[in-house]
Amino acid sequence: MADKKVIVRISAEKCKGCMLCIKACPQGALKVAGKVNKRGQQYVIMAVPEKCTGCGLCFIMCPDCAIEIESNSA
Ligand code: SF4
Ligand code: SF4
Repeated sequence: MADKKVIVRISAEKCKGCMLCIKACPQGALKVAGKVNKRGQQYVIMAVPEKCTGCGLCFIMCPDCAIEIESNSA
C-alpha cells in the first residue's frame, strides 16, 4: 500500500443510510453524517480517511452503488 492513494467517494444523494458499509468497514473509517440528503435520508461519510486501506468492502456491500473507489498509484 506504500505509495497507493485510494479515495472513497460516497454520494450523499444516492445513499439511503442503510449502514451496510459502516458494518462492513474493518477500519471504522465511515460514519453517519448526522444530516439528511435531499430525499430526507441519512447518509454516510468518510470520517477518518487516513484509516481507509482501500479494501473495497464498502463498495462491494453498497446495494445502491453510492460508493466509488478511485485508485491512483503514485
Ligand atoms: S475501502 Fe475498506 S477501509 Fe476504506 S472505507 Fe471502504 S471498507 Fe473501509
Ligand atoms: S451501503 Fe450504500 S446506501 Fe447503505 S449507508 Fe453505505 S453508502 Fe449508503
